[in-house]
Amino acid sequence: MDDASVIIIGAGIGGLTAGIALTQAGYSVEIYDRVSELRPVGAGISLWSNGVKVLNALGLTRQMADIGGSMERMQYLSATGTLLNDIDLQPLVAQVGQCPYPVARADLQQMLLDAFPGQVHLNAKCIGVDQTEDKAIAAFADGRQATADILIGADGIRSTVREYVLEEAIAPRYAGYVNVNGLVPASSELADARTWVIYVGDHKRASMMPVGGDRFYFFFDLPLPEAAPPHPDGVRAELETAFAGWCQPVQNLIAAIAPDTANRLPIRDVGPLERFARGRVVLLGDAAHTTTPDLGQGGCQATEDAIVLARCLKAHLSVTDALKQYEADRVPRTGKLVLKARQRTDDIHGKDPAVTQKWYEQLASEPPEAVTGAIAKVILGGPLH
Ligand code: FAD
Repeated sequence: MDDASVIIIGAGIGGLTAGIALTQAGYSVEIYDRVSELRPVGAGISLWSNGVKVLNALGLTRQMADIGGSMERMQYLSATGTLLNDIDLQPLVAQVGQCPYPVARADLQQMLLDAFPGQVHLNAKCIGVDQTEDKAIAAFADGRQATADILIGADGIRSTVREYVLEEAIAPRYAGYVNVNGLVPASSELADARTWVIYVGDHKRASMMPVGGDRFYFFFDLPLPEAAPPHPDGVRAELETAFAGWCQPVQNLIAAIAPDTANRLPIRDVGPLERFARGRVVLLGDAAHTTTPDLGQGGCQATEDAIVLARCLKAHLSVTDALKQYEADRVPRTGKLVLKARQRTDDIHGKDPAVTQKWYEQLASEPPEAVTGAIAKVILGGPLH
């Protein structure tokens, strides 16, 4: 279908990528977000090759390379610093035809904003959705309304649009751990500048990956009960206690975190859902499928959604047929990844301590090609080859 108008609720990775893809496909797109200033949740993200391919297809090859870090190896180490596995990522790149890019989220969001030619309305909290036979309608907290031929809910894990599409509210499910993340200046006292390092032990992880601008994106995973309050003395004190006795680079990393710069997020997921579309209203990104970060695929899947949705709209004469086709394409892939990520979360974070112990042993004995092969399989399941 041609010349349709589109409202997107949410200006995250999913909403902005969809905005760019649909504008390029010839639609007239406006994006609405509830915030007064766009600030991404979390500091960094690894955009695996399937996500990068989508952005390349949207003409952002150079911009991605400019903001992306150079990640040539991946190393697993024990809490005491013993090297468990050293994985060359070149075979992966050769197999899938595109390198992954670790990036600072703020850089990615700015790049997507710069590439989206339409209007992004801020201070626009969507509080309700409706539709007539030929229009979709969004209602905003300040009394405004917007109408268009298609409404996309890219409004994240606690999506308002999802409640309309599913005709029920779905509570995100706590995944059993808290993630602390941020950015620090790159330094050889922390890690090699071209290697993603992951320290594992006690069901926890401490990790650094190189992003553009000579920085490391770091994260720590701490298995905690859902209601566990933050440490009264702040995130750094929490990490010093949780990672006491871990090797020197981990201590150096904790010491390098500038006060009040780390994000602390209880990790939750949503799905698998069977329905992404209702008439002229459709879900995309975390609103449709929130995966735990343990596969690094949530943002990549949001970009895949965007390009598939644009293709489906181009290929069908009716909006509802196009959205049904999108749903049929995306439900199986994203549902599988929600479950795969959940399983990996459980394996890594000690849901069954014997399984996590086995995972540590497997890490030390697994051939590097088995690791890159598993990552390639996920990437090659995407829509672009
Ligand atoms: P969001 O980024 O959540 O954006 C939703 C937008 O909607 C927000 O701007 C919000 O303000 C707006 N909004 C919400 N409600 C309303 C409303 N009612 N009205 C108007 N606007 C609204 N993915 C990867 O691919 N690789 C990784 O390495 C990776 N690491 C991760 C690490 C962590 C710790 C976490 C938590 C996630 C990670 N992910 C990763 C997943 C990735 O961050 C998400 O999948 C991705 O950000 C989803 O994008 P989105 O646009 O769908 O949703």
